[in-house]
Amino acid sequence: MPSSTLFERIIRREIPADIIYEDAHCVAFRDIAPQAPTHVLVVPVAPVPSLDGPLDSALAGHLLHVAALVAKQEQLTEGYRVVINCGNDGGQTVNHLHLHVIGGRTMAWPPG
Ligand code: 5GP
Repeated sequence: MPSSTLFERIIRREIPADIIYEDAHCVAFRDIAPQAPTHVLVVPVAPVPSLDGPLDSALAGHLLHVAALVAKQEQLTEGYRVVINCGNDGGQTVNHLHLHVIGGRTMAWPPG
């Protein structure tokens, strides 16, 4: 049996998570180590390893759409940040594409 990513196991409910949104293509759940009052991960059901793909452009667009939807659901009316870490230099630690939706405080720039 092929090995599963951590996020596949969350999507299959083998590992508990606070899931706040789900549709046929993606799931959104709260990050276990939040970097702001709101920190949600939007994760495709298909285990795409990173932004480097393979990634269908329709799915990429859908993930962005859901990030905005989740921000609305979380009432981040003052704004928020969407982050995709890609690869080692990008700081990616889970090899299953995910969008961080972070809000509830003012963000600094540039990021570390
Ligand atoms: P990355 O560093 O790959 O961009 O982001 C991975 C994120 O997954 C991190 O923010 C980390 O806190 C989160 N994370 C790691 N393990 C778990 C877990 O078991 N449950 C949840 N909900 N988030 C996790």
